[in-house]
Amino acid sequence: MKITDLKCTVLGSNPVIRITTDEGISGLGEVEASKHYLKPHIMFYKDFIVGEDPTDVERVMMRIRKGGSFKPWGSSVSAIEMALWDIAGKAAGLPVYKLLGGKIRDKVRVYNGGVRYPMDGNSPDAYAANMERMKASPEGFTIIKQGIAFHSGMPSAFPDYFYGEVQPGRFARTSGVLTERGLKYTVDCVQAMKDALGDEVGLALDCGPGLTVPDALKLAKAVEPLNVMWLEDMITGDYVPYVLADLYRDVTQSTSTPIHTGEQIYLRQNFKDLIEKRAVDVIGPDPCDIGGIAELKWVAEYADLHGILMAPHGVLDGLIGLAALVQVSATLPQNYIAFEYPVGNPKWWYDIVEGLPDPIVEDGFITVWDTPGMGVELNEEATRQYLPEGDEDFFD
Ligand SMILES: [Mg+2]
Repeated sequence: MKITDLKCTVLGSNPVIRITTDEGISGLGEVEASKHYLKPHIMFYKDFIVGEDPTDVERVMMRIRKGGSFKPWGSSVSAIEMALWDIAGKAAGLPVYKLLGGKIRDKVRVYNGGVRYPMDGNSPDAYAANMERMKASPEGFTIIKQGIAFHSGMPSAFPDYFYGEVQPGRFARTSGVLTERGLKYTVDCVQAMKDALGDEVGLALDCGPGLTVPDALKLAKAVEPLNVMWLEDMITGDYVPYVLADLYRDVTQSTSTPIHTGEQIYLRQNFKDLIEKRAVDVIGPDPCDIGGIAELKWVAEYADLHGILMAPHGVLDGLIGLAALVQVSATLPQNYIAFEYPVGNPKWWYDIVEGLPDPIVEDGFITVWDTPGMGVELNEEATRQYLPEGDEDFFD
């Protein structure tokens, strides 16, 4: 079998790729909804993969892997890897999880990072009320994540939250020392959310990046009695193109609150320090950023050897990305906690993707399906109306 073409379109704001072959089998991959601009980077790889056998996934990846980097630049390589596994599974007549070594669980736990309701202000009561709505959502999530500190509106909404200024723009980094009032307010909000959830549903908190090491430790110690699932990306993380594992280690080794990072990291080599130094308790690679699902599985196995837990990121990965998360999470070792459940946006995504269970999430779990490949397809007729001008040949 040989690859004949690589195509890319943007559906909603998720870049979607399609790899075609000379045997009529094609594979799909997806990029986070925040990266609508990535199409030229994806298409750059076409000449490197056409003519290769897509079922030799690793050999194809060796041709392109060096071209990726930390978020957002690992996405193109990751989407291609997913599509190759999709083809390999279809060619073998097997779900992708079988090719990754087989599943060790029939249903995978997901956590809520994407089913959101509008906040009514920024008070602790508003955080609690919002958490109660999420707790009541029909998916029955057993873990819910909320943004706080620099991963939220707190620095802008709360007067004198920190000794610094909020920096404008998506790629700017707001960072600084929290005021005592800012720290107390943050902890009050966490306490209110915990009171709303009780001990039935776990609370995870996405916190930065941007906290200083002393503030990260103060926050972690302040919430120790609350048994939160984890504090995510306090120091570095989301879109930060480096890790600073030693700083995380200082915090992690001084608190019983689990510390989490890793969503922006590309490739196993860049997890080496975090894992070998036991710098965090939980890592959260995203299959759409780390370099693909086999890369994520490799890192999970290595983390497991070091007593580090897995909670893969995924909120913006879309419904094809969801399928990839289900396939790989079914195979992860017992350090697996849950992956972050991606939602389709706009809602018509649910009309164009076939193969997902209905409902997708029940009691906080997704049942692993057995369809060959990733097990999801785009319905061509339903999708056509959403193809941007110029991409009419996406299904050819
Ligand atoms: Mg995050």
